Amino acid sequence: MHQLIVNKFACFIYHIQNQSKGLRQDMDISQGWICDTCGTLIDSPSDGRMEWLEYKSGGILKGRGLRLVHHLSASPLKASSTLGCYSYTETYASGLCDAELSEFLGDDGLMLLLSKLANDQLPQDEVIEMIKRLHVSGYEKARLHFDAAASADVFEPSADKGYYSRQDIEAVLEFIKSRD
Ligand SMILES: [Zn+2]
Repeated sequence: MHQLIVNKFACFIYHIQNQSKGLRQDMDISQGWICDTCGTLIDSPSDGRMEWLEYKSGGILKGRGLRLVHHLSASPLKASSTLGCYSYTETYASGLCDAELSEFLGDDGLMLLLSKLANDQLPQDEVIEMIKRLHVSGYEKARLHFDAAASADVFEPSADKGYYSRQDIEAVLEFIKSRD
């Protein structure tokens, strides 16, 4: 049991009821997500959790360490660890927050992430990367292979490092497929 959902800090969790019912289109887009802990596929929104830490800075609640991991019930590590793929424990001084992956998917999920960005609730780079992972088709599958693909001249990296065109992403996905 992940025991730290409720703690001395109020989490930024938005409880969006029944949202998971409308998420099959996201499965078509992403074909799953890669767990930040075990590196294996999270193939259903209900199998994923978002986790991050919150702390107070100058009286303002801030977050850090946004991660996408397996829900404990779906974790390949659950037999060997009571935390499964969860990373943060109650030994952290900061408050741990987590939420269903489904809350961050679809239009409402994108809006939620944008609000965290706008309100500076989590580090900009972490939120932007998560937006790319959850909302840019093919990015999640391609993201760990951009450097290898660029080295193999599969595509020409733009000066705006970390930001890829649809054509680049498709080329990297083809590159991955050709290696499999
Ligand atoms: Zn995992």
